[in-house]
Order: sequence, then C-alpha cells, then structure tokens
Amino acid sequence: MDSKPLFEFKFHKTVLIVFVLYCLSGIAIYSDESKLNAKQSKVLKESFSYLESLEPKRIKIDKPTYNRLTQFESIFKFGFSGKKLSRWIQSRIKKYSYGSTGDYIAMYHDGDVLLGRAFFSLNRLDRVIVLLHEARHADGKNYGHVVCPDNFQFLNPRDWKIHPAGKKGCDDVPDGGYGITAAFLFELGAFGYLNQTEAAYRYNSEISRVIRD
Ligand SMILES: [Zn+2]
Repeated sequence: MDSKPLFEFKFHKTVLIVFVLYCLSGIAIYSDESKLNAKQSKVLKESFSYLESLEPKRIKIDKPTYNRLTQFESIFKFGFSGKKLSRWIQSRIKKYSYGSTGDYIAMYHDGDVLLGRAFFSLNRLDRVIVLLHEARHADGKNYGHVVCPDNFQFLNPRDWKIHPAGKKGCDDVPDGGYGITAAFLFELGAFGYLNQTEAAYRYNSEISRVIRD
C-alpha cells in the first residue's frame, strides 16, 4: 500500500486512518478463511469431473514431434490420464478453503489450498491448471518458487493484474508447478483437446516461468 500521501494529513487524521486500517486488517485476518460454500464446492467438483474426462486418444500431431516434446510420463511416472491426474492432485491436497489470496489465485500451505475469489471465475481448464500447480507444492521445498527476473515481460493469462517480475512466481526446476502444467497442456494439444494455437500459447505461458541461469 502506498502511504506517501499520509505526511500531508494532520496528525489526528493520520491516527484515525491508521486506526481504520488496523481494524480493517483485523477483520480481514479473522474472517480470512472459510469453508467452501455449496456453490464453490460444486465448481471444484466440476473441475475434477472435467479433468477426469480427459483421456489419451489418437495423437493428433506427428509422432516424432510428440516423442520429442512429451514430458508427461517422465514427470508423473504414468502415461497421460485425467483420472490418474485427478487422483494425483487429490492425494496431495487434503483440504480446500476460501479466502483472500492477495496477488495469487490460490495458495498452498501444509496440505491445504486456499482458493481466492478469482479461482471461481476461471474456466474449468484454468481451474484444473491452478489445482495441478498447487498440488505440486505438496511435494516439498524443492518445488517452492524463485524470484522472477526484474525484466520478466510475459503476461499472466489468468490475470493481467498479476505482475510476476521481481516476485516469487518462477521455478528453477523443470518439473515444478509451472513445468508440470506445461507438460499437461502439451498433452491436451497433442490429443486434440485444445487446438494447437491455444495449446501453444498456454504451454508457452507456463514454461516462461521456468527460468534457468
Ligand atoms: Zn506456486
């Protein structure tokens, strides 16, 4: 929050503002997390049903290209399967709650995922991507994020207001939260669940967060 203009206020006004901010933050802290309501639970359930409908079919791209670029099996240790992926996520996330997530769409902490308001207005594919990403955090510190470069220029396709530059929103491992969502999107393109244009831009966006020095 930008507090620069505060010095222009008279002292008592400043005290009042600080007091109001303090109260608001208190309210935010104490009413922060809640159980998902019925509507939110339904949205979450629908995300998993959608994921479970995605199964390998005939490969729509040429086989040498597929073999060259597919990462799914080497990461997950099973062939592409939405049902298995759904179980993979569910074995890692024990509880979901709803609350304020600041600059993020969702946050993982100790087996629990906190879903922000934005999560529920995403389309089902983006919701699955967010869940997949958060589930990776269950696998420990190795999959924590690193700070994105200050000159990071890529847009966040799920929320343009989120600016990753200089924030902990990048990975320095190929199979972290962003690498695995890229691998998933690649399969969706290869099996024709997404057209190549959409699969490529989505894949590129996830992979842009994987940085190596
Ligand atoms: Zn993350």
